[in-house]
Amino acid sequence: MEHREFNPVSPGMHVLPPLPYPYNALEPVIDSETMSIHHDKLHKGIVDALNKTELELVDARKKSDFTCIKFLENNLAFYGSGHILHSVFWTNMTYPGNGGNPGKYTSGYIDWYFGGFKAFKEQFLAAAKNVEASGWGILGYNPAFMRLEILQCEKFQNLTQWGIIPILVCDVWEHAYFLKYHELLEKYVDAWWGLVNWNDVERRLTDAGGAKLPLM
Ligand code: MN
Repeated sequence: MEHREFNPVSPGMHVLPPLPYPYNALEPVIDSETMSIHHDKLHKGIVDALNKTELELVDARKKSDFTCIKFLENNLAFYGSGHILHSVFWTNMTYPGNGGNPGKYTSGYIDWYFGGFKAFKEQFLAAAKNVEASGWGILGYNPAFMRLEILQCEKFQNLTQWGIIPILVCDVWEHAYFLKYHELLEKYVDAWWGLVNWNDVERRLTDAGGAKLPLM
């Protein structure tokens, strides 16, 4: 999902993207064991389940048998969204202190729409810390509105806006932080902020079509 050349994914052919850094790269903010379990076991499991679901749908179409359609569509949404969000999440992070500053379009939207970086950061962190049960804090570009929005996401797929393209995501499922932070979600989210790779955020905003905001 990294390069945008035309390369449509056939049913059941999703692959786990490699981590763009070693397991211990994000220490001390995120420990090596959490990273290896999260990427190699959990994200891999999501990719496998998405592929399985898509192949089951191929089979259902061949047989014209849609008796399990609700189950299959639910899995398609859950695992498909989980694969997309984790793929964004890995590249959204970098070595602590190496993330740079928001790019010109990212900061253009932040200043214009959110009323400045402080207000933006406060809303994003509050959204991430207050997800009910398992989910994500999400900054996304919505082509329909031609601007960014901050959303919460429950599980991988609930509470989103149609068409939004995630450009900065914070995984707040317990598996993302529990080994090191235990129940202290707020502490994890605050520390996680220091990992944000602003070059990646700007690139994703540009790829999503957001590089049109007239900048003062
Ligand atoms: Mn996760």
